[in-house]
Amino acid sequence: MSDSLPLCPECSSEHAYEMGALLVCPMCGHEWSPENAGDQADSADAERVVKDAVGNVLADGDTVVVTTTIKVKGSPAGIKAGTKVRGIRLIAPVNGHDIDCKVPGIGAMLLKSSLVKKA
Ligand SMILES: [Zn+2]
Repeated sequence: MSDSLPLCPECSSEHAYEMGALLVCPMCGHEWSPENAGDQADSADAERVVKDAVGNVLADGDTVVVTTTIKVKGSPAGIKAGTKVRGIRLIAPVNGHDIDCKVPGIGAMLLKSSLVKKA
């Protein structure tokens, strides 16, 4: 038995006890779930929002246009500004790159969301 049980939210009695997943107050009969008290903690897990160069929210499967010419190792031309990239996938950032996609003529690439614009 833990002696750090919370006070009853109804009558502030300190005699609440655990019954399964619930806390029960013998003084007023109130039953409540201690889980509910931790709701605020969940908001930290809110989904990360990825935005393009002008602030549009990007989503998996979006088509974007590259806003500036990007140098690519092994490709003399690089990715030209205005290149359309279909079916992007948002990923956890890798060196600041948070879009996984296939660039026409180049292949699978990681891009920065700050260098594209939603088409
Ligand atoms: Zn109570």
